[in-house]
Amino acid sequence: MKVVIVGAGLGGLACAIACRREGIDVEVLERSPKIHEVGAGIQVPPNGTRIMRDFGLLPQLLEKGVQVQEVNFRRYKDGRLLRRMPFGDDITEQFGAPWVVIHRVDYHCILHDEAIRLGAVIRLGAEVTDISTDEPAALLADGTKVVADVIIGADGQMSSVRTAVLGASVSSNPTGDMAYRATFSREQLEALGDDDVNELCKRIAVTSWLGPDKHTIFYPVRGGKEFNLVLLRPDNLSSDARKEQGDIDEMRESYIGWDETLQKIISCVPSVYKWKLTHLPELESWTKNSVALLGDACHPTLPYQAQGAAMAVEDGAVIGKLLGSLQAQVLEPDSSGNEPSRLAASSAQNLTTEVLALYEKSRKTRTTRNIQGAVKNRKLFHMPDGFLQKIRDFVLGFAGVTRKSDWTYISSSKQSDTLGLDVLEDCGKAFEDWKVSIELEK
Ligand SMILES: Cc1cc2nc3c(=O)[nH]c(=O)nc-3n(C[C@H](O)[C@H](O)[C@H](O)COP(=O)(O)OP(=O)(O)OC[C@H]3O[C@@H](n4cnc5c(N)ncnc54)[C@H](O)[C@@H]3O)c2cc1C
Repeated sequence: MKVVIVGAGLGGLACAIACRREGIDVEVLERSPKIHEVGAGIQVPPNGTRIMRDFGLLPQLLEKGVQVQEVNFRRYKDGRLLRRMPFGDDITEQFGAPWVVIHRVDYHCILHDEAIRLGAVIRLGAEVTDISTDEPAALLADGTKVVADVIIGADGQMSSVRTAVLGASVSSNPTGDMAYRATFSREQLEALGDDDVNELCKRIAVTSWLGPDKHTIFYPVRGGKEFNLVLLRPDNLSSDARKEQGDIDEMRESYIGWDETLQKIISCVPSVYKWKLTHLPELESWTKNSVALLGDACHPTLPYQAQGAAMAVEDGAVIGKLLGSLQAQVLEPDSSGNEPSRLAASSAQNLTTEVLALYEKSRKTRTTRNIQGAVKNRKLFHMPDGFLQKIRDFVLGFAGVTRKSDWTYISSSKQSDTLGLDVLEDCGKAFEDWKVSIELEK
């Protein structure tokens, strides 16, 4: 079986690794002339680190990133601590995998190097301009046609594979929010000579300030040598822009009146980009024939649950597992050895289509719930001053993500499925059920 993956982002590379681990030929087509990721941090929650452990990459993730020890929510105006949640061993104990923060470039490099080590071919400067869902095949800007058994569209929010799958262009809609992203060195922050900033830098923590219409997130990356700051606020980018060079003064003005410690950190930002945060209407389908979408190409989300990339990586791992099981167990080994004997090409293609539909079915409810959860968090995080905000702060004071730390049980019960479900075990069961159903049909 040969799988062509369009896009070498975090989701595409995870899919490449998962497919190679199953012995599937993989070619990744990436339009960028060099391997790249945004110069910012990323949180990898336990459902993401569980996949990395399955890939054998958790030690590298922990070496380049840091295991979060606590998550702190603060009030925007005075920085008052609303809740300190233990996140270290408590998280690992309950969900079987840690919560890690890492620089995106480091995360991307770990996945890229592993995909190469396992034998995936990654073609840079290969822009896909069209997809034939019948063959299937990808057409490149230079006129080359790349034929495969399966094509995976891991080409992000502006996906062109999505257009081929749906037969029409569906563009993402603005959510009304945008993000400024910045990273600093520890020295830059220490140079402020501020006790409160230093205290914050000492902690291996994700700190979030919550305020009306806005919130911010601050955490260490690169073993604490650097720090990542994300500022989220109402969108003011021009309607068709997705990313623009940010205006530093505008950014600083957006947070005047907020906690002085945060303002001091913001004063270190040398230059910044701003990103429009968009999402898609729920898609009718993620697959057509032997072409399927993953990650931001089919379920982009507001980043308010730190789950977008984790879900894309899960998608990739699930696709690899299902296609590998199809190849090994259904396109059966012949009696003389382990090589799969090819079914008639047409029935092999039908079975592949069915397995990709199984992938969609096993992922859609989970990713839709994640999108909805992020929208709910937006309401919760961005509450205006007043009575409801006071109630939120009171309840937040007793909330945690694990059962041990959540005295209200509201937050932990919402998170348990997202963070705790073993998606590979889950899709393995779905595959077994499907296999029984096709055997019954014979
Ligand atoms: C401010 C912010 C903070 C976030 N924080 C987190 C977090 O803490 N945790 C988390 O899990 N998620 C987070 N996310 C979400 C996460 O970044 C995305 O969900 C994730 O990166 C999507 O990965 P992807 O592989 O699906 O797509 P992408 O990363 O967009 O990759 C798509 C790739 O396809 C390539 N491509 C596009 N079109 C073509 C074409 N025609 N031909 C060939 N190649 C093509 C692109 O060049 C790119 O390399 C955050 C997002 C934002 C905006």
